[in-house]
Amino acid sequence: MVETQLRARGIRDKRVLETMRYVPRHLFLEESLHSQAYEDHALPIAEKQTISQPYIVALMTEALELKGTEKVLEIGTGSGYQAAILAELAERVLSIERIESLANEARKLLERLGYRNITIKVFDGTCGWKEESPFDAIIVTAGSPSVPQPLIDQLKIKGRLVIPVGEVYSQMLLKITKEEKGGRQEDMGGCRFVKLLGEYGWKE
Ligand code: SAH
Repeated sequence: MVETQLRARGIRDKRVLETMRYVPRHLFLEESLHSQAYEDHALPIAEKQTISQPYIVALMTEALELKGTEKVLEIGTGSGYQAAILAELAERVLSIERIESLANEARKLLERLGYRNITIKVFDGTCGWKEESPFDAIIVTAGSPSVPQPLIDQLKIKGRLVIPVGEVYSQMLLKITKEEKGGRQEDMGGCRFVKLLGEYGWKE
């Protein structure tokens, strides 16, 4: 997976490559899907949600430019896989999930795997996590019709926000770097995520 899907497609950050080699992706999936865990596509998890394709996980993670000292916010805990990757690469991970059963399962698994620097809460992540802000980096793992303003507000200056923005069935992956005044935006390519539902996302 790391060689043919990640390195061959341009993922260069050594820490990201090492971490994706190390974290057992199959454990975040139901048993019948274990044999497909390292294949080049997204897979279903509970509650009609999905775990992203390995390449997209790597691409988004690399764009956060983590060195090990950061406080990172994730919106959309899902299976907890992306949170585990972040926890290996940053100091602390705060992750928000709107579906309680997913949050509970992810919390249990991450605890079992020994992660002590991840905190998960059940909430509408489009509002961010004000009490824990500001963040060095924010990653949104569900597709949004626009960039939720609270997430920009809760980012440090020079902080990175990575988020899929666009239509329901296709989005553009955006990287926004916050500056003193406004921000710099880069398009990282097309993608397809499940809906970000909430006050600053899609309406339920
Ligand atoms: N990062 C996950 C994949 C997430 S799938 C992983 O590694 O497995 C997207 C997740 O975003 C779903 O679990 C969905 O319930 C959640 N989600 C959607 N809208 C949300 C919101 N407003 N706040 C928090 N989570 C949300």
